[in-house]
Amino acid sequence: MAYVETEHSGGTRFRLFPQLPSLEQQQEPETVWVSSPAGTVLPGPADHRMYVIDPVGKERAYGYYPGPGGSTFHYRPPWRGPVLPEAHPDPEGHFDHLEIGTYAFEQAHAFGAIRFTMDIWERYFERPLQWHFRDYYDRLEILFLRGLDNAFAGFGSIEIGSYTSKKTGTFVEFGLSFDILSHELGHLIIYNEIGLPGTLEVDGEYFGFHESAADMVALISLLHFDSATVGLMENSHGNLYSFNRLNRFGEVSDNWQLRSASNDKTLYDFKDGWTYEHSLSQVMTGALFDIWVDIFHENLLDAGLISRDLEELSDRLEGNPEYEAVIQPLFDEAYAKNRGGFADALIASRDYMGFAMAALWERLSIETLDFADVYETFVEVDHDMTQGRFHRIIHGNMRRRGIGVIKAGPRLKPPDKKSHAFSDRTATPMDACGCSRRLPYALRREAAGNS
Ligand SMILES: [Zn+2]
Repeated sequence: MAYVETEHSGGTRFRLFPQLPSLEQQQEPETVWVSSPAGTVLPGPADHRMYVIDPVGKERAYGYYPGPGGSTFHYRPPWRGPVLPEAHPDPEGHFDHLEIGTYAFEQAHAFGAIRFTMDIWERYFERPLQWHFRDYYDRLEILFLRGLDNAFAGFGSIEIGSYTSKKTGTFVEFGLSFDILSHELGHLIIYNEIGLPGTLEVDGEYFGFHESAADMVALISLLHFDSATVGLMENSHGNLYSFNRLNRFGEVSDNWQLRSASNDKTLYDFKDGWTYEHSLSQVMTGALFDIWVDIFHENLLDAGLISRDLEELSDRLEGNPEYEAVIQPLFDEAYAKNRGGFADALIASRDYMGFAMAALWERLSIETLDFADVYETFVEVDHDMTQGRFHRIIHGNMRRRGIGVIKAGPRLKPPDKKSHAFSDRTATPMDACGCSRRLPYALRREAAGNS
């Protein structure tokens, strides 16, 4: 059973699939607690931060559409039309009794996934998260638009589609994808913490950063499921190096966030320009993922769970075809001696990354944001958190990807409908006036009087 450590007592139970049930052998959802006290989550589900509805007859996504006489019409929440019946809590106020395969289960799953992710990140930010649309709406509207082959975090809403794979014909309900729901909340966190692009001139790398940050929200949140952390350890025996180097993710996990985190893209691949922010984002996500893995191994070393020799051997054999055959048995042996120690080291590295990302995003400002800025700010954050214990790891992994060395070239094509971070749906009803509400970090520190 998974929960966000400080929040579970008196909370409300939901059942979530850590990974899409259709893609994975594991078919049983895991029970989680969200912080809303049992009995306070109303049918929908709905609480004071968000509510789920399942519209009937909604034909298009929220966003900007052409209106009469060349005007623009902003179609936005709330949905006022008919809705499917809501998911109801059990007599104790929990939502873990709903039958898999029903609309009610999916509605509760969507709410639970987003609420669980929010609890996790409120712990890392050490404060409540705000909505960037709070001047217009108190609560997030989470709604289904089945047939929309995407999910969008928009102005006041997360809209959830579904998808039929052209290759396999498999039908995927995004409402059952923790990955996707958690990723979309990640976008909303970044909009609030850093700002909306809107009409503001921002560096192209902002868009790659935005996708990467949303992936980090999903990835770190995923590691709050017991089945995910146990599965990762039982399959790898702690040899996460092999994910970087041999890309064994397919064997360990069907989770696409994990797979896309383990990649070897660098900024050199994009020096002449880029088209999709998802591709550009892989450079930053890959660097952050490698940093996380290195810190995990540093924790294993410090706890005496693996030897310095093993780490050095692993470095020496990098890229060598013998790598797997030599290294894996050594990890198998070390892991068998102290599985609990390995799990603790994994959780400690997860929490380091969670707290570091929250502190990092708090300090970035949209006007100056590019990958090099993220790198420099991460170094500052690590200095404040650990007196620079991981500086060597951060420098090495960032520079290996070209971050802080070169910049990505220009965007080569205008954003299309696949774009998450830059779409009509994210603009404010007025224009982009809300985006500079947050002062740059240096100015905020000054304003707070602690320079
Ligand atoms: Zn996205």
